[in-house]
Amino acid sequence: MDSFDLSGRVAIVTGGNGGIGLGMAQGLAAAGATVVLAGRNATKGAAAVKQIKDAGGKAEFENVDVTEEKSCRALVDGVARKHSKLNILVNNAGINIRKPPDQLNAAEWRSVIDTNLTSAFVCSHAAHPHMKKAGGGKIINIGSMMSIFAAGFAPAYAASKGGIVQFGRACATAWAKDNIQVNAVLPGWIDTDLTRNARREVAGLHERVLARTPAARWGMPGDFAGIAVFLASAASDFVTGTAIPVDGGFSIMG
Ligand code: NDP
Repeated sequence: MDSFDLSGRVAIVTGGNGGIGLGMAQGLAAAGATVVLAGRNATKGAAAVKQIKDAGGKAEFENVDVTEEKSCRALVDGVARKHSKLNILVNNAGINIRKPPDQLNAAEWRSVIDTNLTSAFVCSHAAHPHMKKAGGGKIINIGSMMSIFAAGFAPAYAASKGGIVQFGRACATAWAKDNIQVNAVLPGWIDTDLTRNARREVAGLHERVLARTPAARWGMPGDFAGIAVFLASAASDFVTGTAIPVDGGFSIMG
């Protein structure tokens, strides 16, 4: 038996219509899963579905704003109903507002926390009964280097990314009895829309990332296919509550 095989599994990837989420979704689809990509931008969604289907995979797009509790619950329950199961949930949708804490207002704080953290709670809460009914499941939360390190320009983002790791550990502890494994992935600096904006807004960022990353390059969305398959498959059945850096060595540099 191939313990990495995901044939017959059904996965939801929030923000799976681009960037790291799409890299993970492509990995899951290549391993045999049906992937449901959830996001706001339907044009990106259609292109992502086409990319996966062209490669021989099974994919669908659902138009969802993860800051709306109702939409998240409709997504999770709808997928479970349509496919008669939900095995894998990747809480990946995320945004950043780059301002020091003294310049961030409460609405901006809430917008980042709602998108990056509260959505993970709502989707996990909605997914739990379906996974329990299926005899188990896999939840993958996307953290950041800011789950570990500080950054003066990202207070709400850092709070959300620290929070998602600890929230995941709470779920891992509570739901181990239901055979649900919950892990986090901590990306280093990855070339996506999110960081293209950061490179524009933060002077010298590009050079600093290259200098500090032992692999001497930015990560690519495709670098997340393997970790997604591992954490979504039977290969990781005794792995839970971890936070695994996928960062080209960024987090081990002194
Ligand atoms: P992208 O901007 O490419 O992707 C973010 C995704 O989140 C988009 O597909 C977007 O979909 C979706 N999204 C954002 N807000 C919402 C919302 N309200 N409802 C539904 N979907 C939403 O960035 P990345 O791929 O880089 O980011 C993916 C994750 O990885 C994030 O959690 C980010 O914090 C994390 N990360 C990224 C790093 C990097 O270096 N790139 C480093 C560390 C962590 P849509 O366009 O449809 O809104």
